[in-house]
Amino acid sequence: MADLYCRVDADVAGRQGVCKASGRCCRFEEYGHRLYVTHAELIYFYATYLQPGINPANNDHEADTAALPRTAGFPLPLYKGDGEFAPGCPWQVQGMCTARDARPLGCRIYFCDADSRGWQGPVYEYWHQQFTAIQARFGIDYGYVEWRHGLSLLRRALADPIAGQAGVATGRDQE
Ligand code: SF4
Repeated sequence: MADLYCRVDADVAGRQGVCKASGRCCRFEEYGHRLYVTHAELIYFYATYLQPGINPANNDHEADTAALPRTAGFPLPLYKGDGEFAPGCPWQVQGMCTARDARPLGCRIYFCDADSRGWQGPVYEYWHQQFTAIQARFGIDYGYVEWRHGLSLLRRALADPIAGQAGVATGRDQE
């Protein structure tokens, strides 16, 4: 996975996308889009950032962010505690990504400048296929889930390994 991400980064670097909004795209509700990830990316993220001893619930960003009720219109399971969620990615702290080593494919390919729109779709599709191939090679069920939904499944897997792993394997919520 690390090698694959390095190849993605090299590919993207050659395309010279421009970041104009300084992390605004990580604040999904404000920006108006969603980030989706494969199961392979979630598992790699777990190995990099969610091992025992690293507690994303302690991410300072969450404490700084206004809590919104579940009725705010966000239909997906939430990453934060029951009944509320922090808008945007919980790994963005003071405008900066704190998960750069294992940030998902979409974070590496998306740029907001108009010149990047032409290449992003095909490039994303190409690399997505490479991650899908890795899933197949290691016998991981195909899964493609909203980022915070995936994080919530991982958190559940940490709390309840049997039920949580079933959720990651199937991409379904295990309430
Ligand atoms: S992982 Fe990093 S780059 Fe991706 S949405 Fe979160 S803060 Fe932004």
